[in-house]
Amino acid sequence: MSLRINSRGSQVVRLQKELKAAGFNPGPTDGIFGRGTQRAVRAYQSKYRLGVDGIVGPRTWSKLLHDGKTPAGGTSSVSRPSSAPRGRSVLGYVNGSPRRIQIAPVGNGKYLRADAAARFNQMKAAARRAGVNLSVVSGFRTMAQQRQLYAAYRAGRGNLAARPGYSNHQGGLSADLNTGGYNTRAYKWLKAHGRQYGFVNDVRGEHWHWTFRG
Ligand SMILES: [Zn+2]
Repeated sequence: MSLRINSRGSQVVRLQKELKAAGFNPGPTDGIFGRGTQRAVRAYQSKYRLGVDGIVGPRTWSKLLHDGKTPAGGTSSVSRPSSAPRGRSVLGYVNGSPRRIQIAPVGNGKYLRADAAARFNQMKAAARRAGVNLSVVSGFRTMAQQRQLYAAYRAGRGNLAARPGYSNHQGGLSADLNTGGYNTRAYKWLKAHGRQYGFVNDVRGEHWHWTFRG
């Protein structure tokens, strides 16, 4: 559900609290999305380069909720709005262990773990401003998908694929991108700027494979 000018209710209260927690001033916490709240949303979107439309859609919610968490691992003083878009909760795998993770969209119908997705989307926007179009060819993978890729690899029909359960794609941390080679603008841009957004090219010989290290 998107919130916009004239929206009312408990979700707007939560939005106003999150904006305050993020250091913006939406005016009174009254559950009414008025001009003051809209100004704060626009300022927030501008600061985080979310596309300034004054409407709180999935990307703005995702950023607000992710940043609302305290670094100490505590949670925001505000609980997650039940109707806010928050990606999906899925069963991922990290080092062979199943783990429930939140994934969020990164375009192209692909997903990454929510925190990686937020950074990826910022990186993608920055790349676009530099004239480089990044798109995700493969992001989060389910166990079934990884098994299939692994089988193909073992049969000599596919790229190197990690053992099912052990791919960073299954933790929602790796994205295979449309780099097209090591000598392309996309690869060079990523090599120069990816680290700023937490992404590194961590598999030798795979210019397309970028992993979020935070
Ligand atoms: Zn990969």
